[in-house]
Amino acid sequence: MFEHIVEAPPDPILGTALAYKADTNPNKVNLGVGAYRTEEGATYVFPVVAKVDKELAAQTLDKEYLPIDGLPGLKKVTQKLLFGECAAYRGDRICSIQALSGTGALRVGAEFMNRHLPQDWGRTVYLSDPTWGNHKQIFLAAGFAVKTYPYWDQARRCVDMDAMLHTLKFAPKHSIIVLHGCAHNPTGLDPTKDEWQQIVQVIKDNNLIPFIDTAYQGYASGDLDEDAYSLRLFESSGLEFFVAQSFAKNFGLYGERVGMFHIVASSAERAKVVLSQVKPVVRAMYSNPPVHGGRIVERILSDPTLFAEWQQQLKDVAARIHRVRSDLRGGLEAKGTPGSWEHITRQIGMFSYTGLSVAQSERMIDQWHIYMLKNGRISLAGLNHKNIPYVVGAIDDCVRN
Ligand code: PMP
Repeated sequence: MFEHIVEAPPDPILGTALAYKADTNPNKVNLGVGAYRTEEGATYVFPVVAKVDKELAAQTLDKEYLPIDGLPGLKKVTQKLLFGECAAYRGDRICSIQALSGTGALRVGAEFMNRHLPQDWGRTVYLSDPTWGNHKQIFLAAGFAVKTYPYWDQARRCVDMDAMLHTLKFAPKHSIIVLHGCAHNPTGLDPTKDEWQQIVQVIKDNNLIPFIDTAYQGYASGDLDEDAYSLRLFESSGLEFFVAQSFAKNFGLYGERVGMFHIVASSAERAKVVLSQVKPVVRAMYSNPPVHGGRIVERILSDPTLFAEWQQQLKDVAARIHRVRSDLRGGLEAKGTPGSWEHITRQIGMFSYTGLSVAQSERMIDQWHIYMLKNGRISLAGLNHKNIPYVVGAIDDCVRN
């Protein structure tokens, strides 16, 4: 039965973590996977998460099934975090379900759209070029045709806004446009506020459907409201749209798989009907979400003291990432490494799109044991004062040779 099956290549992102683990070189550095590390290179549990975890353990709560759409108490608190107390929030126009982190929210959204958007709307999704490696597979799996809109300008190392707006202007109406809410992965470059307004306008004018993926709220600027700017702009525009919200990075709950899928609708009645149709999609895929991580997020977002602690810890994490950005750039400039490295500090969030070519990135991995993506993306979370000089030396070598 299995003779005809050929072995699939490892996942390009998760595969780097495996290769790193298997490497016995003492100098090895993991800049592949986007999980936060401390200045000492250790994995990190937010202290507020550890505290709530203990509190929950002491209560010996039941492990019953959750409803299909997850913990009821998560809906309003996660909506408020993302959208603020806006008109859609106050008017109960947001349909929300707890999802299996950001990936699960995207997958449920894609499946829902495939089932319920009018048949004659086509099934085309536009992704930024480049984008997070999993987007394409998620939408292909749900039966969509996948295209791209220009985003990264390799020559100028910035966002090519004119080309992006041009493609959106001429995309067939009712196409789905996936946007990164903040801290674009992998480039680390977001549109400016003025550019976001132009994006909203062209989407509105051309009857396109926004699907906003937000996995780094709090990581980009260290300010939760600032990082929700694009979401709130879409809300105030009156458009109906989809959102995938992940708590993997900003709560450090990677393995708990907790996130939310939201749909902003034009009325409370529409939101209610839409929710009734999201539930059968979930029921057929995984029935209902896991309970533990959801309880942690609900507790922190519902309690003002815990919320303040979380906000401060998130700020500290974002500040460390900012620091290593400057140190990396400073190190390369001090060494006189050919090229401009100013983009490293212009980029935000967890990643830097270094501009290293595939061949240079391969040399980083093979000769220097520095694990990163072959498209030149590094996770800054893996850098610290001990390994930065080594990484600087490696980049310098790869650029010169
Ligand atoms: N979207 C983007 C842009 C991401 O970078 C990530 C995490 N790497 C996700 C979604 C989803 O991650 P998770 O499923 O762990 O929440």
